[in-house]
Amino acid sequence: MRRFRFLRDPDPAAIGDSFEAFLRWLEGPACLFISGADDSRCRAFVTLLHGNEPSGARALWRWLREGERPAVNLVCVVASVTAALTEPLFTHRMLPRARDLNRCFRPPFDDAQGRLAEEILELLRLHRPEAVVDMHNTSGSGPSFAVCTFPDRQHDALAALFTGRLIISRLDLGALMEISDRRCPTVTIEVGGRLDAAADRCAFEGLCRYAAVPDVFAGSIRERGLERLADPVRLELREGVSLTYAPRPCAGHDITLRPDIEHHNFGSVGPDVVLGWTGGLPTRLFRAVDASGACAVDRLVRIEDGELRPAQSLKLFMITTNAGIAQSDCLFYAVADDGQPIAA
Ligand SMILES: [Zn+2]
Repeated sequence: MRRFRFLRDPDPAAIGDSFEAFLRWLEGPACLFISGADDSRCRAFVTLLHGNEPSGARALWRWLREGERPAVNLVCVVASVTAALTEPLFTHRMLPRARDLNRCFRPPFDDAQGRLAEEILELLRLHRPEAVVDMHNTSGSGPSFAVCTFPDRQHDALAALFTGRLIISRLDLGALMEISDRRCPTVTIEVGGRLDAAADRCAFEGLCRYAAVPDVFAGSIRERGLERLADPVRLELREGVSLTYAPRPCAGHDITLRPDIEHHNFGSVGPDVVLGWTGGLPTRLFRAVDASGACAVDRLVRIEDGELRPAQSLKLFMITTNAGIAQSDCLFYAVADDGQPIAA
């Protein structure tokens, strides 16, 4: 069964005069093919893998409305349209009980989300794009960044079309960007929080550049200033550990994190910073595994007088203030202060 609706060169006047109307017009998962000035090549733009991350699809709608012809063919995949349109709009990462779609890009493909992921992979194989961009919003508010699994010049150039930061991650989670190789460089672009005006701007301006430049790998002034952050470690909660966000310790929860913790996104946090409050032992509360497979919890956080602090100077990012996401995904990602992996 085919889940994706296929639309070729849609008429800009027909795609809806609001973003919401655009999604209703798509009806469900959709693949839009836009013919380029050079139709011998193709680039892919994937977005809305998560229904609560609308900036990429909104940018696509705006870009399509302008009726601009891309430099090369553009294959646009808009995935979780149904989750996005489930009330309240843009609050459902996926439908209840469904798996996280961006953890499904590896076998087994045996449930609905797996089959959707498999079909996206099939679409990409069919079109053989020279590059793939997968655009997301971060769960909290914050600046934009790119993520790739493959550190090379092509990925740098691709990332620099959108943002000034590139995270190199060898995490093996079943995310779309893990398909990346030298023939098909793939980057995830996190444009910032879904309520940040800067995120919509980053998404739209980046997409315009991505569609318009004749060579996405030519590099630019922007590439030279790219900040790189290598091999981040995820701080995860252990099963059954409860978490809340409040400005002071909350009884009845194992961990209370400060609600303004996301202000530390991409900044340096020293060991004197209080991230929250908890009793107990870090290794009983958290899980963190470094690139070598060793436990990194004690290198990330320590607990002193009930205060949760960084164990050393760190750079934190993708900090969430959503307890559900913290529980099902992770609290934050961390590298050493200088952007290098956390030393063993
Ligand atoms: Zn996402």
